Amino acid sequence: MTIDLARAAKEKNIRYFLISFTDLLGNQRAKLVPAEAIGQMMKSGASFAGFATWLDMTPADPDVFAMPDPDSLIQLPWRPEVGWLAADPWMHGKPVEQAPRNLLKRMQAKAAESGLQLKSGVECEFFLISPDGARIDDGADRQAKPCYDQAALMRRYDVISEVCDGMLALGWKPYQNDHEDANGQFEMNWGYDDALVTADRHAFFKYMVKSIAEKHQMRATFMPKPFAHLTGNGCHIHVSLWKGERNVFEDERGDLGVSALGYNFIGGIIHSADALAAILNPTVNSYKRINAPRTISGATWSPSSVTYSGNNRTHMIRIPDGGRFELRLADGAVNPYSMPAAILAAGLDGIQVKRDPGKRLDINMYTEGHLAGEVKRLPLNLLDALRALQSSALLNDSLGEYVPAYLKLKHQEWNDYARHLTEWERDTTLDC
Ligand SMILES: [Mg+2]
Repeated sequence: MTIDLARAAKEKNIRYFLISFTDLLGNQRAKLVPAEAIGQMMKSGASFAGFATWLDMTPADPDVFAMPDPDSLIQLPWRPEVGWLAADPWMHGKPVEQAPRNLLKRMQAKAAESGLQLKSGVECEFFLISPDGARIDDGADRQAKPCYDQAALMRRYDVISEVCDGMLALGWKPYQNDHEDANGQFEMNWGYDDALVTADRHAFFKYMVKSIAEKHQMRATFMPKPFAHLTGNGCHIHVSLWKGERNVFEDERGDLGVSALGYNFIGGIIHSADALAAILNPTVNSYKRINAPRTISGATWSPSSVTYSGNNRTHMIRIPDGGRFELRLADGAVNPYSMPAAILAAGLDGIQVKRDPGKRLDINMYTEGHLAGEVKRLPLNLLDALRALQSSALLNDSLGEYVPAYLKLKHQEWNDYARHLTEWERDTTLDC
């Protein structure tokens, strides 16, 4: 049921709406619109100069209109007079094909042609650091193995409980919060849902955590690897596929409780993993989280090879129990909309051509990886991943205009990075 925003504004005392869209590099762009003007915005959308954002447009292009989705309305828990709305960029009277939220909706519609619906839950890890970004905010958080550290968690109770209270008020069904494996790192979990609902919440969660951290004179970062010696920020995603009320990944007679169709979907992810990395690990820094040397806690908790397992966190895909799997590839920089869209594209291909995921591995990949035999490795850097995406006919076909637009922006980023002279180069090359 679509919400009447003018009426919602009166009932909930909303004075302003933030009409927000997420661009290809994951930035949230918004206009702050007084509640009195929301009726017109619902008809025509909020206008933006597309070139001024990362949508791969030119200064000569006409206005982009961000069309608010009234069902996405979220009242800011820390500032309830503002209502946040996810919006879909339109131009020339139709959705902008490369815009990530439009992409996800298109992939969902494709799945719906076969009666299928992707449901997902995300685990967005983040650090609480000093406002200048230089250090962990909590100077006492120094354990070598700080995961689940009760005292460190409770020293940040004010921030964590305020975010969790927000999720409770919004009806997201949060169920646990913890200190993660790196000093200063936390994770907060809420219930899984339809992939678009989760993507909107994922986008909003990042904004909420950053805003509430700022309120408490801290900074929150989702950067994949902000500190070289510590575990990085993952964004593990739990995936299941539904036909109406039935989870079609579930089969109690299947190995680990997963159906043949579920294994085909996993086969599709494994088949496209190197190209998927370009989207799920979208920054130069992402590749310092995957393929990383051991951190001081003893493990990176991130994958380096394209393998799957049962309830074993050293592989790219973990099947913790029947009916779902956890993809551990993505990191904190991932675009909340492009991630499920790309997973759906790869997984639907797996179902369509019945891809075989190969043999499940039950070894500890961190210490016994050499026993795995011939397994595909993940790309070692962003450029390798971009090249894999470029040559993936499957992802180019199914993700349409998104891929060339994304590749163009990301190649610019890589070239910008490659022009930097680093300390490491001077240290190792001055005396050549
Ligand atoms: Mg975690």
